Amino acid sequence: MTYQSINPFDGKVSKTFPELSDKQLESAMATAATCYETWRRKTFAERVAVVEKAAAILHTRADEFARHATLEMGKRIAEARGEVEFSSQILAYYAKNAERFLAPVKLHPTLGEAHMESSPIGVVFCVEPWNFPYYQLARVAGPHLMAGNVLMVKHAGCVPQCAIAFEKLWIEAGAPVGLYTNLLVTHEQAERIVDDSRIKGVALTGSVAAGQSIAARAGKNLKVSSMELGGSDAFIVLDDADLEHTIKWAVWGRMYNCGQTCCAAKRFIVVDKLADKFLEKFQSALAALKPGDPMDEKTTLGPLSTESALVDLLKQVDGAVAKGAKLVMGGKRIDRPGSFMQPTILTDIKTDNPAFRQEFFGPVALFFRVKNEDEAVALANNSDFGLGGSVFTKDVARGKRVASRVETGMMFINNISWSDAELPFGGIKNSGYGRELGDMGIQEFVNKKLVRVASMDAPV
Ligand code: NAP
Repeated sequence: MTYQSINPFDGKVSKTFPELSDKQLESAMATAATCYETWRRKTFAERVAVVEKAAAILHTRADEFARHATLEMGKRIAEARGEVEFSSQILAYYAKNAERFLAPVKLHPTLGEAHMESSPIGVVFCVEPWNFPYYQLARVAGPHLMAGNVLMVKHAGCVPQCAIAFEKLWIEAGAPVGLYTNLLVTHEQAERIVDDSRIKGVALTGSVAAGQSIAARAGKNLKVSSMELGGSDAFIVLDDADLEHTIKWAVWGRMYNCGQTCCAAKRFIVVDKLADKFLEKFQSALAALKPGDPMDEKTTLGPLSTESALVDLLKQVDGAVAKGAKLVMGGKRIDRPGSFMQPTILTDIKTDNPAFRQEFFGPVALFFRVKNEDEAVALANNSDFGLGGSVFTKDVARGKRVASRVETGMMFINNISWSDAELPFGGIKNSGYGRELGDMGIQEFVNKKLVRVASMDAPV
């Protein structure tokens, strides 16, 4: 059974959902394609009415949506509520700004006059991960629905109730049937959806393996795609960093969402001068986290999303140690029911250790000691990923110089405020391509059409 709600806090299965038959899938696809023909012709004001209403419902009923996330993938309730609120803000942001972002742009040719206009392309297929079960959906729904496209979405197998709640949201917001369709489909069906001529674009957020598979399929069909994949972000601590402030962000950057964030701080690169102190303080801050029910506001360490996520991560840590890494703390499951893992720090990860190039998707920090700023930048760039990264220093100008030298899609100085509705989000290298959020996010699945007028009398 692919779609199952299992509470990782106690391992109890609350609901299972059957996958769609091919016949049901075909019917959903036909409905979406029909919906596109009317939705594309709606005015911005008509689209705003639906998207604003969806934003308002998320805001008013944040707690109800948040509980689904906590029960299905273990996110601590306050974080889940914050995610729902942020999803509401993303929808509201695109309702407010889409018309401006997609307004015709005047060009200045040598002859006559010209402009670029933006129009929707059709039904867009999205494949989304469980770690932000609403925010990831809002990141595609806000921009692409406001642009006049229609969405069909395959969410992750472990969050079907979140997926269904988000689909119902659109019906409650007054959306026409077929505007936003949640698809409980297999990987094989997902591939056929990409092939279908009614699908005009494909957006995926997930692992590198999923991205490679779906991007290849989209490429074969010459369909535009965006890929938001994994990361192994560097957290660079320079010799003049304020250590108290830095430790606070190190803990948050690694442990938010129990470490299951694409752009979480994963590689801690600290200059020699501060390395020992940093490691000592980081270790004691992580040791102070208390495992408990993610539904309890006081809990500071929740479970991982699923039992298999925990088992895979434990194996990955064992593999790193077998190849020479040192375990400074943690590395084991916590002795209690549920899929809990001890906060973990690994050091001495040499470049020939496979762990050096891997993403650790959970509460596992890789610690590296470097001589100076240049070594820190070189180590940060020695990665197959290029999603985000951060640098901590009292000298902001120096921080900006370091940020410019790190080869990623996003850099944060003295803070790790990853995401904002108006800031483009995305990476390079194995972290994928394309951007979500901001003005750039809405431009990914629109036709940019050139229209030029020149005099009939102009020389041929
Ligand atoms: P995943 O296994 O790739 O799953 C993500 C989604 O892709 C799920 O809906 C999954 O469906 C689907 N999927 C996987 N393989 C597929 C295939 N061959 N064909 C069709 N669909 C397929 O990733 P995950 O482990 O759940 O999520 C964590 C990963 O996502 C991490 O690497 C993280 O860094 C990345 N991520 C990136 C961003 C970003 O914005 N860059 C944001 C969040 C997460 P099933 O659940 O049914 O397998």
